[in-house]
Amino acid sequence: MEVGLFQPDGQANPAYLKLDLYCKGLRIDESCALGDDAREIIRNRAGLGSGLEVIIGQGMFTNIPVVEWWVQNSPYWLVKNNTRYEIWRDKTPFKYDVYDELKPVGKGPWFGKLDRANAEYVDTVRIPIEPKWYKQRTTSGKLMQRIGCLQGTYLGIYWGPRCQNWGPNGENEYCKFCTEGQNLGSQEEAEKSIEDVVETVLAARRESKITFVHINTGFIDSNDYWGLFEPVMRAVKERTGLLLGLQAPPDADFENYRKFKALGVNNVSLCFEVIDEELFKEIGPGKARRTGLQGYLDAIEFTANDVGFDTVNGEIIAGLEPIESSMRAIDWIVDHGAIPTVCVFRPVIGAAYGKRKPPRVEDMLPVFQHFYKRCMEKGLPIGIAPNVKVSLIMLPEECRGLMPNPDAWPLTRAKLWLMRTIFGAWFNARVKV
Ligand code: SF4
Repeated sequence: MEVGLFQPDGQANPAYLKLDLYCKGLRIDESCALGDDAREIIRNRAGLGSGLEVIIGQGMFTNIPVVEWWVQNSPYWLVKNNTRYEIWRDKTPFKYDVYDELKPVGKGPWFGKLDRANAEYVDTVRIPIEPKWYKQRTTSGKLMQRIGCLQGTYLGIYWGPRCQNWGPNGENEYCKFCTEGQNLGSQEEAEKSIEDVVETVLAARRESKITFVHINTGFIDSNDYWGLFEPVMRAVKERTGLLLGLQAPPDADFENYRKFKALGVNNVSLCFEVIDEELFKEIGPGKARRTGLQGYLDAIEFTANDVGFDTVNGEIIAGLEPIESSMRAIDWIVDHGAIPTVCVFRPVIGAAYGKRKPPRVEDMLPVFQHFYKRCMEKGLPIGIAPNVKVSLIMLPEECRGLMPNPDAWPLTRAKLWLMRTIFGAWFNARVKV
Protein backbone atom coordinates (compact mmCIF):
# COMPACT_ATOMS: atom_id res chain seq x y z
CA MET A 1 0.00 0.00 0.00
CA GLU A 2 1.35 3.39 -0.92
CA VAL A 3 1.59 5.68 2.09
CA GLY A 4 0.26 9.19 1.70
CA LEU A 5 -2.09 11.76 3.17
CA PHE A 6 -5.20 9.86 2.17
CA GLN A 7 -5.97 6.17 2.59
CA PRO A 8 -7.64 4.08 -0.13
CA ASP A 9 -11.07 4.73 1.45
CA GLY A 10 -10.54 8.49 1.11
CA GLN A 11 -10.05 9.08 4.86
CA ALA A 12 -7.01 11.00 6.03
CA ASN A 13 -4.11 8.99 7.39
CA PRO A 14 -3.58 10.57 10.84
CA ALA A 15 0.04 9.41 11.15
CA TYR A 16 1.01 10.88 7.79
CA LEU A 17 -0.88 14.06 8.57
CA LYS A 18 0.96 14.43 11.90
CA LEU A 19 4.32 13.94 10.20
CA ASP A 20 3.56 16.28 7.31
CA LEU A 21 2.32 18.98 9.67
CA TYR A 22 5.64 18.84 11.54
CA CYS A 23 7.36 19.44 8.20
CA LYS A 24 5.09 22.14 6.80
CA GLY A 25 3.21 23.73 9.68
CA LEU A 26 -0.35 25.05 9.73
CA ARG A 27 -1.89 28.35 8.71
CA ILE A 28 -4.87 29.75 10.55
CA ASP A 29 -8.06 30.71 8.76
CA GLU A 30 -9.81 33.81 10.01
CA SER A 31 -12.78 31.66 11.13
CA CYS A 32 -10.72 30.27 14.05
CA ALA A 33 -11.06 31.55 17.60
CA LEU A 34 -7.93 30.12 19.15
CA GLY A 35 -7.79 32.75 21.86
CA ASP A 36 -10.94 31.19 23.29
CA ASP A 37 -10.52 27.56 22.25
CA ALA A 38 -6.85 26.61 22.51
CA ARG A 39 -4.04 26.21 24.98
CA GLU A 40 -1.66 29.11 25.04
CA ILE A 41 1.45 28.53 22.94
CA ILE A 42 4.41 28.14 25.26
CA ARG A 43 7.90 28.09 23.81
CA ASN A 44 9.71 25.60 25.93
CA ARG A 45 11.56 22.31 25.56
CA ALA A 46 14.43 23.82 23.58
CA GLY A 47 11.77 25.70 21.60
CA LEU A 48 10.18 22.55 20.23
CA GLY A 49 6.95 23.21 22.08
CA SER A 50 6.40 26.39 20.10
CA GLY A 51 3.36 25.15 18.25
CA LEU A 52 -0.37 24.70 18.56
CA GLU A 53 -1.54 21.61 20.44
CA VAL A 54 -4.03 19.65 18.33
CA ILE A 55 -5.53 16.16 18.52
CA ILE A 56 -5.72 14.29 15.23
CA GLY A 57 -7.76 11.11 14.70
CA GLN A 58 -8.29 8.91 17.76
CA GLY A 59 -6.19 10.73 20.33
CA MET A 60 -3.03 11.43 18.34
CA PHE A 61 -1.66 14.53 20.03
CA THR A 62 0.53 16.85 18.05
CA ASN A 63 2.20 20.20 18.46
CA ILE A 64 2.01 21.89 15.07
CA PRO A 65 4.33 24.71 14.01
CA VAL A 66 2.29 27.89 13.50
CA VAL A 67 4.57 30.83 14.23
CA GLU A 68 7.77 30.09 12.28
CA TRP A 69 8.57 31.93 9.03
CA TRP A 70 8.35 28.82 6.88
CA VAL A 71 4.74 28.18 7.93
CA GLN A 72 3.57 31.13 5.80
CA ASN A 73 3.51 28.89 2.74
CA SER A 74 2.08 25.75 4.27
CA PRO A 75 -0.68 24.15 2.20
CA TYR A 76 -2.43 23.18 5.45
CA TRP A 77 -5.04 25.41 7.03
CA LEU A 78 -6.95 25.24 10.28
CA VAL A 79 -10.58 26.18 9.75
CA LYS A 80 -13.47 26.52 12.20
CA ASN A 81 -16.74 25.17 10.89
CA ASN A 82 -19.47 26.03 13.43
CA THR A 83 -18.05 24.41 16.56
CA ARG A 84 -15.76 21.98 14.72
CA TYR A 85 -12.14 22.48 13.81
CA GLU A 86 -11.03 21.05 10.48
CA ILE A 87 -7.79 20.80 8.57
CA TRP A 88 -7.93 21.68 4.89
CA ARG A 89 -5.26 21.52 2.25
CA ASP A 90 -4.62 23.99 -0.51
CA LYS A 91 -4.77 22.10 -3.81
CA THR A 92 -1.91 24.04 -5.37
CA PRO A 93 0.90 21.47 -5.65
CA PHE A 94 3.40 22.07 -2.86
CA LYS A 95 6.96 22.55 -4.01
CA TYR A 96 9.74 22.40 -1.46
CA ASP A 97 11.66 25.22 -3.13
CA VAL A 98 8.87 27.66 -2.15
CA TYR A 99 11.14 28.33 0.82
CA ASP A 100 13.74 29.84 -1.51
CA GLU A 101 11.33 32.67 -2.27
CA LEU A 102 10.26 33.32 1.30
CA LYS A 103 12.07 35.67 3.59
CA PRO A 104 13.00 33.85 6.81
CA VAL A 105 11.69 36.74 8.87
CA GLY A 106 8.45 37.65 10.56
CA LYS A 107 6.43 35.80 13.09
CA GLY A 108 3.03 34.15 12.79
CA PRO A 109 0.55 32.75 13.49
CA TRP A 110 0.01 33.12 9.75
CA PHE A 111 -3.60 34.18 9.61
CA GLY A 112 -5.42 34.52 6.33
CA LYS A 113 -8.54 33.52 4.47
CA LEU A 114 -8.58 30.09 2.90
CA ASP A 115 -9.87 29.94 -0.66
CA ARG A 116 -12.09 26.89 -0.16
CA ALA A 117 -12.80 26.58 -3.88
CA ASN A 118 -9.13 25.71 -4.32
CA ALA A 119 -8.79 23.52 -1.26
CA GLU A 120 -9.83 20.09 -0.02
CA TYR A 121 -11.08 18.92 3.35
CA VAL A 122 -8.54 16.69 5.08
CA ASP A 123 -9.75 15.83 8.56
CA THR A 124 -11.66 16.99 11.61
CA VAL A 125 -9.43 17.61 14.61
CA ARG A 126 -9.86 18.62 18.22
CA ILE A 127 -8.16 21.51 19.93
CA PRO A 128 -7.46 20.57 23.55
CA ILE A 129 -8.73 23.30 25.83
CA GLU A 130 -6.38 25.02 28.19
CA PRO A 131 -6.59 23.35 31.60
CA LYS A 132 -7.77 25.57 34.43
CA TRP A 133 -4.64 24.86 36.45
CA TYR A 134 -2.53 26.75 33.86
CA LYS A 135 -3.86 29.96 35.36
CA GLN A 136 -3.72 28.86 38.98
CA ARG A 137 -0.91 30.02 41.21
CA THR A 138 1.23 28.01 43.57
CA THR A 139 1.34 28.94 47.26
CA SER A 140 4.41 31.05 46.52
CA GLY A 141 2.43 32.97 43.87
CA LYS A 142 3.90 31.46 40.68
CA LEU A 143 1.70 30.84 37.67
CA MET A 144 1.53 27.06 37.25
CA GLN A 145 1.90 27.17 33.45
CA ARG A 146 5.31 28.73 34.08
CA ILE A 147 6.27 25.80 36.30
CA GLY A 148 5.27 23.03 33.90
CA CYS A 149 3.11 22.47 30.86
CA LEU A 150 1.32 19.68 29.06
CA GLN A 151 2.97 18.26 25.97
CA GLY A 152 0.17 16.03 24.86
CA THR A 153 -1.00 14.28 28.02
CA TYR A 154 2.15 14.34 30.14
CA LEU A 155 3.62 17.13 32.23
CA GLY A 156 7.00 18.57 31.20
CA ILE A 157 9.03 20.55 33.74
CA TYR A 158 12.42 22.22 33.38
CA TRP A 159 14.47 22.03 36.58
CA GLY A 160 17.73 23.72 37.41
CA PRO A 161 19.66 26.74 36.18
CA ARG A 162 19.80 27.84 32.58
CA CYS A 163 21.78 25.37 30.50
CA GLN A 164 25.37 26.47 30.94
CA ASN A 165 26.02 26.12 27.25
CA TRP A 166 24.29 29.51 27.18
CA GLY A 167 26.67 31.19 29.59
CA PRO A 168 28.00 32.83 31.61
CA ASN A 169 31.04 30.72 30.74
CA GLY A 170 29.68 28.77 27.82
CA GLU A 171 28.68 31.56 25.45
CA ASN A 172 28.12 30.47 21.89
CA GLU A 173 28.27 26.83 22.87
CA TYR A 174 24.53 26.27 22.81
CA CYS A 175 23.04 23.77 20.39
CA LYS A 176 22.12 25.45 17.15
CA PHE A 177 18.54 24.20 17.04
CA CYS A 178 17.80 25.21 20.65
CA THR A 179 16.26 28.27 22.29
CA GLU A 180 16.13 27.05 25.87
CA GLY A 181 18.47 29.79 27.05
CA GLN A 182 16.01 32.40 25.76
CA ASN A 183 12.90 30.73 27.13
CA LEU A 184 13.89 30.15 30.72
CA GLY A 185 12.89 33.21 32.70
CA SER A 186 10.71 34.59 29.90
CA GLN A 187 8.42 31.68 29.01
CA GLU A 188 9.23 29.45 31.95
CA GLU A 189 9.88 30.30 35.58
CA ALA A 190 13.63 30.32 36.16
CA GLU A 191 13.29 30.05 39.92
CA LYS A 192 10.96 27.33 41.14
CA SER A 193 10.86 25.52 44.43
CA ILE A 194 10.17 21.86 45.05
CA GLU A 195 6.84 22.89 46.53
CA ASP A 196 6.00 24.85 43.35
CA VAL A 197 6.68 21.70 41.35
CA VAL A 198 4.73 19.34 43.61
CA GLU A 199 1.70 21.65 43.71
CA THR A 200 1.72 21.94 39.93
CA VAL A 201 2.02 18.17 39.50
CA LEU A 202 -0.88 17.61 41.89
CA ALA A 203 -3.05 20.15 40.07
CA ALA A 204 -2.22 18.58 36.72
CA ARG A 205 -2.99 15.12 38.06
CA ARG A 206 -6.32 16.26 39.52
CA GLU A 207 -7.60 18.02 36.43
CA SER A 208 -5.65 16.64 33.47
CA LYS A 209 -5.20 13.08 34.81
CA ILE A 210 -1.52 13.03 33.98
CA THR A 211 0.33 9.78 34.63
CA PHE A 212 3.87 10.83 33.70
CA VAL A 213 6.05 13.73 34.83
CA HIS A 214 9.08 14.41 32.66
CA ILE A 215 11.72 16.59 34.27
CA ASN A 216 14.55 17.92 32.14
CA THR A 217 17.51 20.19 32.35
CA GLY A 218 20.48 21.46 30.35
CA PHE A 219 24.17 21.29 31.20
CA ILE A 220 25.56 22.20 34.59
CA ASP A 221 29.32 22.52 34.87
CA SER A 222 29.63 19.78 37.48
CA ASN A 223 27.54 17.29 35.50
CA ASP A 224 26.20 16.19 38.90
CA TYR A 225 22.60 15.59 37.90
CA TRP A 226 21.92 13.34 40.86
CA GLY A 227 22.76 16.25 43.15
CA LEU A 228 20.52 18.54 41.11
CA PHE A 229 17.50 16.27 40.77
CA GLU A 230 17.42 14.03 43.82
CA PRO A 231 15.36 16.30 46.11
CA VAL A 232 12.73 17.23 43.51
CA MET A 233 12.44 13.74 42.07
CA ARG A 234 12.08 12.25 45.54
CA ALA A 235 9.37 14.73 46.50
CA VAL A 236 7.35 14.14 43.33
CA LYS A 237 7.66 10.37 43.54
CA GLU A 238 6.87 10.11 47.25
CA ARG A 239 3.92 12.46 47.16
CA THR A 240 2.30 11.34 43.91
CA GLY A 241 3.55 7.90 42.84
CA LEU A 242 3.35 9.07 39.22
CA LEU A 243 5.69 7.77 36.53
CA LEU A 244 8.83 9.82 36.44
CA GLY A 245 11.20 10.63 33.59
CA LEU A 246 14.64 12.21 33.71
CA GLN A 247 16.14 14.03 30.75
CA ALA A 248 19.61 15.40 31.37
CA PRO A 249 23.09 15.23 29.91
CA PRO A 250 25.17 12.20 30.99
CA ASP A 251 25.91 12.23 34.71
CA ALA A 252 29.55 12.63 35.75
CA ASP A 253 29.21 9.42 37.77
CA PHE A 254 27.22 6.69 36.04
CA GLU A 255 26.72 4.95 39.40
CA ASN A 256 24.27 7.76 40.18
CA TYR A 257 21.87 6.21 37.69
CA ARG A 258 21.46 3.30 40.08
CA LYS A 259 20.36 5.81 42.74
CA PHE A 260 17.84 7.32 40.31
CA LYS A 261 16.47 3.86 39.67
CA ALA A 262 16.25 3.10 43.41
CA LEU A 263 14.43 6.41 43.93
CA GLY A 264 11.75 5.30 41.48
CA VAL A 265 12.67 7.03 38.23
CA ASN A 266 11.04 5.03 35.45
CA ASN A 267 12.54 6.50 32.30
CA VAL A 268 15.82 8.11 31.33
CA SER A 269 16.23 10.06 28.14
CA LEU A 270 19.58 11.08 26.65
CA CYS A 271 19.57 13.43 23.70
CA PHE A 272 22.53 13.21 21.38
CA GLU A 273 20.57 14.47 18.33
CA VAL A 274 22.91 13.21 15.57
CA ILE A 275 25.30 10.31 15.30
CA ASP A 276 27.53 11.90 12.69
CA GLU A 277 30.58 12.86 14.74
CA GLU A 278 31.46 15.98 12.75
CA LEU A 279 27.89 17.26 12.70
CA PHE A 280 27.61 16.52 16.40
CA LYS A 281 30.48 18.92 17.06
CA GLU A 282 29.16 21.54 14.69
CA ILE A 283 25.56 21.47 15.95
CA GLY A 284 26.31 21.23 19.67
CA PRO A 285 29.77 22.59 20.46
CA GLY A 286 29.02 22.68 24.19
CA LYS A 287 27.84 19.09 24.18
CA ALA A 288 30.92 18.08 22.23
CA ARG A 289 33.31 19.82 24.61
CA ARG A 290 31.62 18.76 27.82
CA THR A 291 30.66 15.17 27.12
CA GLY A 292 31.23 14.22 23.51
CA LEU A 293 29.08 11.89 21.45
CA GLN A 294 30.70 8.86 23.02
CA GLY A 295 29.71 10.08 26.48
CA TYR A 296 26.05 10.01 25.43
CA LEU A 297 26.34 6.59 23.83
CA ASP A 298 28.09 5.17 26.91
CA ALA A 299 25.37 6.60 29.17
CA ILE A 300 22.63 5.04 27.02
CA GLU A 301 24.38 1.69 27.05
CA PHE A 302 24.89 1.83 30.82
CA THR A 303 21.38 2.94 31.76
CA ALA A 304 19.67 0.51 29.39
CA ASN A 305 21.77 -2.55 30.20
CA ASP A 306 23.50 -2.15 33.56
CA VAL A 307 20.78 -0.29 35.45
CA GLY A 308 17.60 -1.42 33.74
CA PHE A 309 15.10 1.44 33.97
CA ASP A 310 11.62 0.63 32.68
CA THR A 311 12.67 2.37 29.47
CA VAL A 312 15.67 4.31 28.23
CA ASN A 313 15.40 6.65 25.28
CA GLY A 314 18.13 7.85 22.97
CA GLU A 315 16.87 11.03 21.38
CA ILE A 316 17.77 12.23 17.91
CA ILE A 317 16.53 14.96 15.59
CA ALA A 318 15.79 13.80 12.07
CA GLY A 319 16.50 16.47 9.50
CA LEU A 320 19.80 17.60 11.02
CA GLU A 321 21.88 14.92 9.32
CA PRO A 322 21.50 12.77 6.19
CA ILE A 323 18.68 10.26 6.47
CA GLU A 324 21.10 7.31 6.29
CA SER A 325 22.81 8.74 9.33
CA SER A 326 19.50 9.10 11.21
CA MET A 327 18.75 5.48 10.39
CA ARG A 328 22.19 4.48 11.66
CA ALA A 329 21.44 6.32 14.90
CA ILE A 330 18.14 4.45 15.22
CA ASP A 331 19.96 1.15 14.65
CA TRP A 332 22.57 2.01 17.25
CA ILE A 333 19.95 2.86 19.89
CA VAL A 334 17.82 -0.22 19.22
CA ASP A 335 20.85 -2.53 19.11
CA HIS A 336 21.93 -1.24 22.52
CA GLY A 337 18.65 -1.95 24.25
CA ALA A 338 17.12 1.53 24.25
CA ILE A 339 14.15 3.05 22.43
CA PRO A 340 14.74 5.86 19.94
CA THR A 341 12.95 9.15 20.39
CA VAL A 342 12.91 10.72 16.95
CA CYS A 343 12.06 14.43 16.69
CA VAL A 344 11.56 16.25 13.41
CA PHE A 345 13.91 19.22 13.07
CA ARG A 346 11.93 22.42 13.59
CA PRO A 347 13.74 25.66 12.66
CA VAL A 348 12.31 27.71 15.51
CA ILE A 349 12.37 31.47 15.95
CA GLY A 350 15.50 32.62 17.73
CA ALA A 351 17.58 29.48 17.21
CA ALA A 352 20.88 29.66 15.33
CA TYR A 353 19.28 27.31 12.81
CA GLY A 354 16.02 29.26 12.83
CA LYS A 355 16.45 30.39 9.24
CA ARG A 356 17.05 26.93 7.85
CA LYS A 357 14.45 25.11 5.81
CA PRO A 358 12.34 22.47 7.54
CA PRO A 359 12.88 18.89 6.34
CA ARG A 360 10.90 17.30 3.52
CA VAL A 361 8.23 14.80 4.49
CA GLU A 362 9.51 12.57 1.67
CA ASP A 363 12.84 12.34 3.51
CA MET A 364 11.28 11.89 6.93
CA LEU A 365 8.93 9.07 5.93
CA PRO A 366 11.64 6.39 5.41
CA VAL A 367 13.30 7.40 8.68
CA PHE A 368 10.10 6.87 10.65
CA GLN A 369 9.28 3.66 8.80
CA HIS A 370 12.71 2.36 9.72
CA PHE A 371 12.14 3.47 13.31
CA TYR A 372 8.91 1.46 13.60
CA LYS A 373 10.34 -1.56 11.82
CA ARG A 374 13.37 -1.77 14.10
CA CYS A 375 11.27 -1.34 17.27
CA MET A 376 8.92 -4.12 16.21
CA GLU A 377 11.67 -6.47 15.04
CA LYS A 378 13.35 -6.08 18.40
CA GLY A 379 10.07 -6.34 20.35
CA LEU A 380 10.83 -3.15 22.30
CA PRO A 381 8.30 -2.12 24.97
CA ILE A 382 6.67 0.74 23.08
CA GLY A 383 3.32 2.32 23.97
CA ILE A 384 3.17 0.59 27.36
CA ALA A 385 2.82 3.52 29.78
CA PRO A 386 -0.83 4.39 30.48
CA ASN A 387 -2.18 7.59 28.95
CA VAL A 388 1.14 8.95 27.69
CA LYS A 389 0.52 10.75 24.41
CA VAL A 390 3.33 12.94 23.25
CA SER A 391 2.69 15.93 21.05
CA LEU A 392 6.30 16.86 20.23
CA ILE A 393 7.26 13.65 18.48
CA MET A 394 5.91 10.75 16.48
CA LEU A 395 5.53 7.98 19.06
CA PRO A 396 6.90 4.69 17.74
CA GLU A 397 3.49 3.03 17.92
CA GLU A 398 1.97 5.90 15.92
CA CYS A 399 4.41 5.16 13.09
CA ARG A 400 2.50 1.98 12.36
CA GLY A 401 0.22 4.20 10.28
CA LEU A 402 3.21 5.10 8.10
CA MET A 403 3.86 1.51 7.10
CA PRO A 404 2.85 0.02 3.74
CA ASN A 405 1.70 -3.03 5.72
CA PRO A 406 0.42 -1.85 9.11
CA ASP A 407 -0.84 -5.34 9.95
CA ALA A 408 2.66 -6.80 10.13
CA TRP A 409 4.03 -8.17 13.44
CA PRO A 410 0.64 -9.28 14.85
CA LEU A 411 2.20 -11.33 17.66
CA THR A 412 4.43 -8.51 18.80
CA ARG A 413 1.48 -6.13 18.80
CA ALA A 414 -0.56 -8.63 20.83
CA LYS A 415 2.30 -8.93 23.33
CA LEU A 416 2.50 -5.15 23.62
CA TRP A 417 -1.23 -4.92 24.20
CA LEU A 418 -0.92 -7.42 27.05
CA MET A 419 2.03 -5.58 28.56
CA ARG A 420 0.11 -2.30 28.35
CA THR A 421 -2.88 -3.83 30.13
CA ILE A 422 -0.77 -5.32 32.92
CA PHE A 423 1.35 -2.22 33.36
CA GLY A 424 -1.77 -0.02 33.47
CA ALA A 425 -3.21 -2.15 36.27
CA TRP A 426 0.13 -2.07 38.13
CA PHE A 427 0.26 1.72 37.83
CA ASN A 428 -3.33 2.21 39.02
CA ALA A 429 -2.62 0.09 42.08
CA ARG A 430 0.40 2.19 43.08
CA VAL A 431 -0.44 5.74 42.15
CA LYS A 432 -1.06 7.79 45.29
CA VAL A 433 -3.18 10.64 43.95
S1 SF4 B 1 22.26 20.98 25.93
FE1 SF4 B 1 21.88 21.99 23.97
S2 SF4 B 1 19.70 21.44 23.53
FE2 SF4 B 1 20.03 21.09 25.70
S3 SF4 B 1 19.39 23.00 26.69
FE3 SF4 B 1 21.63 23.09 26.38
S4 SF4 B 1 21.88 24.18 24.45
FE4 SF4 B 1 19.75 23.48 24.54
